[in-house]
Amino acid sequence: SVQALQGLAQIRVDTARRDAAHFINGEFTQGLTSKGWWENRSPLDNSVIGRVPEGGQAEVDAAVHAARAALDGTWGKMTVAQRTDLLAAVANEIDARFDEFLAAECLDTGKPYSLASHIDIPRGAANFKMFADTVKNVSTETFILDTPDGKSAVNYGLRRPKGLIAVISPWNLPLLLMTWKVGPALACGNTVVVKPSEETPLTATLLGEVMNKVGVPKGVYNVVHGLGPNSAGEFLTQHPLVNGITFTGETRTGEAIMRQAALGVRQVSFELGGKNPAIVFADCDLDKAIEGTMRSAFANCGQVCLGTERVYVERPIFDSFVARMKGDAEALRLGRPEDGATNLGPLISQEHRSKVLSYYKLALEEGATLVTGGGVPDMPGELALGAWVQPTIWTGLKDDARAVNEEIFGPCCHIRPFDTEEEAVRLANSTPYGLAAAVWTENVSRAHRVASKMDVGICWVNSWFLRDLRTAFGGAKQSGIGREGGLHSLEFYTELSNVCIKL
Ligand code: NAD
Repeated sequence: SVQALQGLAQIRVDTARRDAAHFINGEFTQGLTSKGWWENRSPLDNSVIGRVPEGGQAEVDAAVHAARAALDGTWGKMTVAQRTDLLAAVANEIDARFDEFLAAECLDTGKPYSLASHIDIPRGAANFKMFADTVKNVSTETFILDTPDGKSAVNYGLRRPKGLIAVISPWNLPLLLMTWKVGPALACGNTVVVKPSEETPLTATLLGEVMNKVGVPKGVYNVVHGLGPNSAGEFLTQHPLVNGITFTGETRTGEAIMRQAALGVRQVSFELGGKNPAIVFADCDLDKAIEGTMRSAFANCGQVCLGTERVYVERPIFDSFVARMKGDAEALRLGRPEDGATNLGPLISQEHRSKVLSYYKLALEEGATLVTGGGVPDMPGELALGAWVQPTIWTGLKDDARAVNEEIFGPCCHIRPFDTEEEAVRLANSTPYGLAAAVWTENVSRAHRVASKMDVGICWVNSWFLRDLRTAFGGAKQSGIGREGGLHSLEFYTELSNVCIKL
């Protein structure tokens, strides 16, 4: 309602007054050293939202020591029930402060309230609830071994926390992706130090207030703001007291973190980039395929790791598919988050816009036919200073074009016709990435057949971004290492030991 939106606008202004702060050992601090501050700018209009302190070695050391001490304190002694009750309380408190989280997230990212209120914030709460339930309900393996003396031995698996987990998170779904790691890490009894993206510091900071309010012991959840190389990100991931590193972000950053993790042989869990395909067969339900592909290409202004940037359409429906996508893309409304009619926000930053626009230019140089978009929209008033780009569709690129093979992470896709199922599968699998795929067909045999041939971690059939948090999530090839989700998260966030008892 208009009233609700006015309320949110008010919160937006209040939140805007706040500078971000590190959250270390249960306390907010704006710095122990003098690494300085950076300005957090709104992608909507480039205005200054507030300042963010850059954490250095001193902040990372303080957070790491607080997190280690917490492992030996009250937190480490809690029963599973006490711990999971606390996490349920965290989820409830996020729900209770929903509007504040929503406003903070939209302030940092410029994304529409309509999107963040359905995806980012509810999932932020759900990530705590779901993993609290999971740890209570998962058994470990048991084997009885016959022994040479005619008796036996009982083996059983025992899950213990891994220890201190470093969480390095990106800016595209800040609260959702950060809690996707923090939820299971805490549910398993670990402590965490989070280094949120420098672009989106606010919701990680707000979560500190929630932790204190519900009584999560000091040092269990810590946040240090900073950049990557030679800053908090690097200092944290190479810290010898960190036991495991969970990271979501670009593949190239993953390579750097893996080198840092090699010091002391720490385990990593990586959710990396993608260049995800959709395959649209002529026997699909075209309305659903268009609706799903529109969302997968343009939701969150194309800044979703699972988003579709390559669309392969069976030739008989190619022209009508392209025409409908063009019409729908041109009907997207760019605007402010609180405007109920908005379905596309800006990109995250001016810097990211430069990258996306460089691909818009490159695609044309590589011979693309521009179906729609391709540039910067005319935005009114102060929005003219924001990081806006037009939703863009191309056809006609060669299969080896860089715009078809490299992750752009913007609101754009290339659509190409295909003639056979084998060809579609080959094209879909033709990049070094392997995160997600979407297949659109009403033929159930074909659905299973094609899904089984996709070199990806997640294949959707007749849907996109439909997430069951109990299922395995991760990437194949250069899109990741390991799987998280449900039971799979426990594999990373716990150390499984076998106890063998001779009877
Ligand atoms: P990014 O790799 O630039 O940054 C991610 C985080 O890593 C940030 O917090 C950054 O400060 C930190 N970082 C950078 N260099 C570091 C270093 N040397 N050591 C430690 N930390 C360092 O990614 P981004 O631009 O924030 O996010 C977009 C990328 O994330 C895209 O490639 C997207 O596909 C990917 N992504 C993947 C998934 C997935 O689940 N697979 C989900 C969301 C986003």
